Amino acid sequence: MIRNIQTVIPGIATSDGAGVKLRRSLGGQQQVRLDPFLMLDEFSSNDPNNYVAGFPAHPHRGFETVTYMLEGHMLHEDHLGSQGHLKTGGVQWMTAGRGIIHSEMPQQDSGAMRGFQLWINLPANEKMKAAGYLDIQAENIPKISLPNGGAVKVIAGAFENEGESITGPIQGITTAPLFLDVHLPPNAEFAHRIPQELNAFIYIYEGELEVGGPMRAVPKQAAIVLGDGDRLKTKAGSLGAQFIVLAAKPLHEPIVQHGPFVMNTRAEIEQAIDDYQNNRFVIS
Ligand code: FE
Repeated sequence: MIRNIQTVIPGIATSDGAGVKLRRSLGGQQQVRLDPFLMLDEFSSNDPNNYVAGFPAHPHRGFETVTYMLEGHMLHEDHLGSQGHLKTGGVQWMTAGRGIIHSEMPQQDSGAMRGFQLWINLPANEKMKAAGYLDIQAENIPKISLPNGGAVKVIAGAFENEGESITGPIQGITTAPLFLDVHLPPNAEFAHRIPQELNAFIYIYEGELEVGGPMRAVPKQAAIVLGDGDRLKTKAGSLGAQFIVLAAKPLHEPIVQHGPFVMNTRAEIEQAIDDYQNNRFVIS
């Protein structure tokens, strides 16, 4: 059964960090989410005034942050003294767990800065695990060329291609996320299995795309939540299309969020604030 469009969540212009301009779709003002996805930001600018201030030191607890750089260079530093470079085509998968205090600062003062930051929730029994992260450079992300001239990058989960399963560098996460970046030439089709039990959305960042059965055009720069089914079916328009595909198992747990803290109860949020204010937030 082909998944059709269920909801369109437009990316609303906003800013975060020290004034980085971005578009927030999931996790915007209405607290619209798609379990276990909490938030999706797209940042895209050629003007350094829109990104150069970066994201100075700030905390997170209770979930994972995934940064996918389409273009640009940021330096990540955390309270443990770890450093990582996020460069064009690379991904940082950070498990905030019990707590991390980090900064993400641009290492350029001109040119394009483009990419995504996605927040994925952790189950209750993993929210207080130790923090950690993986920096994955572009060359370690499998890229599969499609017969129609398109290409797929496999960041998390598995891409099934002509009977072969190609797995991305991110594995072993409880919510079993699938994260693909798909590029299609004009009028090319793309289909992929997305198991019924996963919640799924796509986000078109370049070009034009139709989705579903029957096909319907979808807007760019919006999270397109997919309905029931087990198959994604798409076709690029005359400009081609570039889009990300995200799917994961829902947690079905209560969510209480206070900015960068995402827990299950109000008491756990109060604990997070208290821990942060009293330097008990992180394990060093
Ligand atoms: Fe952060």
